[in-house]
Amino acid sequence: MAWKTLDDMDFAGKRALVRVDINVPVEDGVVTDTTRIERIIPTVDDIQAKGGKVILMAHFGRPKGQVVPEMSLEIIAPAVADVLGLPVTWVNADYADAVAAMEGDEVLLLENLRFNPGEEKNDEGFAKRLASLGDIYVNDAFSAAHRAHASTEAIAHLLPACAGRLMAEELGALEKALGTPERPVVAVVGGAKVSTKLDLLGNLVGKVDHLVIGGGMANTFLAAQGIDVGKSLCEHDLADTAREILGKAEAAGCEIILPRDIVVAREFKAGADTETVAPDACPADAMILDAGPQTVAYISEVLENAKTLVWNGPLGAFEIAPFDAATNAAAARAAELSKAGKLISVAGGGDTVAALNQAGAADDFTYISTAGGAFLEWMEGKELPGVAALS
Ligand code: ADP
Ligand code: MG
Repeated sequence: MAWKTLDDMDFAGKRALVRVDINVPVEDGVVTDTTRIERIIPTVDDIQAKGGKVILMAHFGRPKGQVVPEMSLEIIAPAVADVLGLPVTWVNADYADAVAAMEGDEVLLLENLRFNPGEEKNDEGFAKRLASLGDIYVNDAFSAAHRAHASTEAIAHLLPACAGRLMAEELGALEKALGTPERPVVAVVGGAKVSTKLDLLGNLVGKVDHLVIGGGMANTFLAAQGIDVGKSLCEHDLADTAREILGKAEAAGCEIILPRDIVVAREFKAGADTETVAPDACPADAMILDAGPQTVAYISEVLENAKTLVWNGPLGAFEIAPFDAATNAAAARAAELSKAGKLISVAGGGDTVAALNQAGAADDFTYISTAGGAFLEWMEGKELPGVAALS
């Protein structure tokens, strides 16, 4: 691995500036989900166990370079203290004095980085001010690594830098899935639109052995082959692009798997009347809202013969039953194979994580990335500035 980890650094008597993602949901001033805070525990504990002091740097919401009181990290500080089981001091001024006064296992939490316009501008001066507060820089915020910001990029060049535990775990899992994967590799890409996932599809066809295209974007591919998709969500203007992707896949020896049967309905609502028909038999007044059982059976067969799976995007409009059926069934099979040690499975994306949780499959996947945009950019094959800066 090109980046250093906590194991490569000597933290004894040192102050570690740790970039974390604690951008948690808050309702009426109360943190409603502490998952992101829980995930930084290993890094904070490790640095302290090695004799270092921890100074946390984070963003919260999108204040766009201004002080917005509702986005102060003071709101999050009690939850951080609670989850870490450590004294946490939030500071919004006189940082150097606060750092000098740190005692015992006290953790310092700096005010929302994005209150300063220098953060999102990757400003050297702001990065220098942050760097002056510590001896070692630790990035544990993979989910912010696709942005070149002062606390993710510029600062990494100013101090000895390494990845935190969570970042290292995420990078390791992603490397196993697409970097140097065990083959055959299957990618499942679903979701609403082709237009949001063009780069992703373009990158995957050159890397994976089988590419399942599902969800609304499959409609665009069906239409590009001259099939009438009725009232389905479909980007007709992307027909050429879809054909290009199919051509690129063929040249690369990547099998494209499109729906072999489709679930159609006239309304997108719970308990709507549905029909399962052949892919070219969508009635003119109906919408394709899920893949059918034959498609799932074929996906299962491909998964059974695969060693690695990377998944982004649901196979149908999973928010409303019964259009979650294909996603649930394919996820259950992937989970089963992963649990049995036969498949390495990595999944990410906001709706994907929600869908896999809803299917009860998430726990048995090898790795679930909660990084959102950073996960997608990684699937697109892009270099993430926050990761590049660590090596
Ligand atoms: P992620 O957030 O995991 O990257 P996307 O945002 O790309 O995933 O896709 C999720 C959305 O795709 C969901 O809202 C789902 O309802 C929608 N979707 C999936 N299949 C269809 C379909 N056949 N028709 C319309 N919308 C669909
Ligand atoms: Mg989404």
